[in-house]
Amino acid sequence: MTEGILTTAYIAASILFILALGGLSHQETARRGNIYGIIGMAIALIAVIASEFVTNYAILAVCIAIAAVIGIYVARRVQMTQMPELVAILHSFVGLAAVLIGFASYLDPTTHFEGPDAEVAKTIHEVEIYLGVLIGAVTFTGSVIAFGKLSARISSKPLALPARHWLNLGLGLVCLGLGVGFVGAEDTGSGLIPLLVMTIIAFAFGIHMVMAIGGADMPVVISMLNSYSGWAAAATGFMLSNDLLIVTGALVGSSGAILSYIMCRAMNRKFLAVIAGGFGTAGGAVAAGGDQGEVIAVSAAETAALLKDAKRVIIVPGYGMAVAQAQHVINDITRKLRDQGVEIRFAIHPVAGRMPGHMNVLLAEAKVPYDIVMEMDEINEDFPDTDAVLVIGANDIVNPSAQTDPSSPIAGMPVLEVWKAKTVVVMKRSMATGYAGVQNPLFFEDNTRMLFGDAKASVDAILASV
Ligand code: NDP
Repeated sequence: MTEGILTTAYIAASILFILALGGLSHQETARRGNIYGIIGMAIALIAVIASEFVTNYAILAVCIAIAAVIGIYVARRVQMTQMPELVAILHSFVGLAAVLIGFASYLDPTTHFEGPDAEVAKTIHEVEIYLGVLIGAVTFTGSVIAFGKLSARISSKPLALPARHWLNLGLGLVCLGLGVGFVGAEDTGSGLIPLLVMTIIAFAFGIHMVMAIGGADMPVVISMLNSYSGWAAAATGFMLSNDLLIVTGALVGSSGAILSYIMCRAMNRKFLAVIAGGFGTAGGAVAAGGDQGEVIAVSAAETAALLKDAKRVIIVPGYGMAVAQAQHVINDITRKLRDQGVEIRFAIHPVAGRMPGHMNVLLAEAKVPYDIVMEMDEINEDFPDTDAVLVIGANDIVNPSAQTDPSSPIAGMPVLEVWKAKTVVVMKRSMATGYAGVQNPLFFEDNTRMLFGDAKASVDAILASV
């Protein structure tokens, strides 16, 4: 393949990736966006495979075959509820790849810089390597810890080490000093030591950064690690002098940064505090659960009667709906009630579920019409005029203590003000807390009814009665 064709293929793939990101920003165009992304990636792969950079097709074929088998196996086995943790572990692979490529690139005996600018080119290359390995190592361990927290293998409670911000600052300064030693090193042998030490520190920093994050603040970390993985890929592109990888990494890095900003706004957190790690934990330990009075239980038949009598209904889905896979039956209930003249809308909190857009994906999968799915800002003022709210497996996102208890780990986070409606029915299996580990005073309100049980069984029973 000539260089001209390769460049054209790279440009085409870059444009398709941009179109893919544009498409993914709206539910109506998300499917098309996905297709653009797939075509772009296919073009990129074919172009790279056919380029002169690949010299050993046997090794490449074996690697692709192994990766394809693992990819197909994981994709077939993974449950929809495991998607957030899968995304986290995939980010870790990008980070680890950046670390390994950084070391390989540094140790590559064929790398030589000649000509009058050789010294400058060598320094730039070493800075690329150092930054790539640093970002990659933080992304790798940070994402592995995020995987552990999202899959409940690690407690979602924040680890609050004493003087942790000073510790982070100290680690940052040591990495800076090591960077100076690395770039000024006489030969590869003496440069390898600062590079190795920095890698170990960066691994530790990634672990510490995500361990310090409380459960409720994880969405910001997920999108931030997504952004880091993009920058790690871009740094890898610089190391390998691959323009497409630079562009793609920058696209992922910047879109992840924008998503982090959106998440910060949604959670009322400060972006810089997130980057420093350990934010949102000023209140110390996560408040314990515990009963706050009596709750009023309700049956599925009573809930169905309430819904049929209502004029305006708002459904609030949360992580429990994903666990129960109740979205299809919810759609059936919605259709039936709308046919009977009940106005139904869905209220989506930006951090509902375990990944950005989690609820939108599930509702789109169940074919709930887009025009009745509203964002929090669009619908939050409508609860006082609502007859019935159905909270399906949501907890933290409808917790009034975010507004009333300054010591709560979710203090300041905007929530859906469901308690302002005439009646609220909360579907969950027990009195267990949500992901942030705090009890929810909503359950003890006079106008709240608890419909206990698996959300799928509950909505099946409601469907039979509406
Ligand atoms: P929560 O985790 O706060 O609450 C979910 C509730 O669903 C639980 O209280 C649980 O109660 C109930 N539940 C679980 N399984 C079932 C089931 N099968 N049937 C019925 N109920 C069930 O979820 P929310 O969506 O309200 O809030 C999301 C939380 O996750 C926030 O704290 C957010 O910050 C965090 N987070 C979000 C991410 C994102 O990007 N969206 C990423 C990482 C974390 P019970 O066990 O009693 O049934």
